[in-house]
Amino acid sequence: MTAITVDATHHTRIGDIGQRVLGGGQITRDEATWLFQLETSADVLDLLSWANRIREHFKGNKIHLCSIVNAKAGACSENCSFCAQSAFHQTGAPKYGFVEPEPVVAAAEEARQNQVTAVGLVAAWKGLNEGPMLDEVCDRIRELKAGGKTRPDASLGLIKKQEVADRLKAAGLECYGHNLESSRRFFPQTCTTHTFDDRLETIGYLKKAGIKICSGGIIGMGETRADRCELAFELKAIGAHVVPINILNPIPGTPFEKIAPLPVLEILKTIACFRFILPRQEIMIAGGRTVNLRDAQSMVFMAGASALMVGNYLTTLNQPVEKDLQMIKDLGLDPNWDRHDFSDQAEASACGGGGGATETEGALVTTK
Ligand code: SF4
Repeated sequence: MTAITVDATHHTRIGDIGQRVLGGGQITRDEATWLFQLETSADVLDLLSWANRIREHFKGNKIHLCSIVNAKAGACSENCSFCAQSAFHQTGAPKYGFVEPEPVVAAAEEARQNQVTAVGLVAAWKGLNEGPMLDEVCDRIRELKAGGKTRPDASLGLIKKQEVADRLKAAGLECYGHNLESSRRFFPQTCTTHTFDDRLETIGYLKKAGIKICSGGIIGMGETRADRCELAFELKAIGAHVVPINILNPIPGTPFEKIAPLPVLEILKTIACFRFILPRQEIMIAGGRTVNLRDAQSMVFMAGASALMVGNYLTTLNQPVEKDLQMIKDLGLDPNWDRHDFSDQAEASACGGGGGATETEGALVTTK
């Protein structure tokens, strides 16, 4: 049997960076770029052991669970290359208008039963403007809030006016999902009907309204390691509170249907690098988890993940919630989490202190 040899210099360098981040220090871009280039399983498992310590130090043993409601399905005017719900792609995805209260109330009850922290209303459209639809959305948010069973979140596309964000806040919205999806360099290869700056503008209005930001992206779309690294630093710069990492689940009929999957070690390494760059954030594993990680799913927590998207995704199935809850408990982790407590997150890193939230067709917080 060939012994796994740990490269001593790599081991020391990973440890030095890990120790600094544990102590509230920051990783540099050069160091992050170097971590993304690690190749051997020995080095990657070494990296994971530090990412796990950083997760435990800043997040304890709590695991934040989220689920979603597909509140308006299909026929989206945007052409995101990974998305089953785009009107540009023939995927056979369901199509229906904005939901009545009942499915939302049912989702909240299911969430309460499954210890799920937040339920997010997700809509397959370009964005939200003032008018009757905004009134309806605010009604659904108020109903979720009044139910008191789960935190009302939403992922409703681009926002072009401050008043829209202020209305959502006034209705009781606490967190808005709006992914940057990938680096600024790679974004145009994922979507050409709106821009990376459109998404930054939306996040600006939300932050000004006092709404927490859930923003991450999708890996495995053909982007480079440098793109993934750049995305993590962009998410740090915008002060994202929750960072969903989706792993592309190629949907037949979309332009990305033939993309080869990322190796499991590359996925776990990416999660760990995100934990080094975003030590205080909720790093959530969302869409594409089961199909890409298979039996290695539970290693996402060792890689630094502190949150999980549970329940079915927007247009595809996830594994049963009970199986996820058992996986979390088997590792001595705790899915019980105070859904209103963002206290230990981005504020610190947003102001540069300490450093010391899209299913590829997935969850709430993942694609809008
Ligand atoms: S990801 Fe969102 S904006 Fe893009 S096509 Fe899908 S539903 Fe539309």
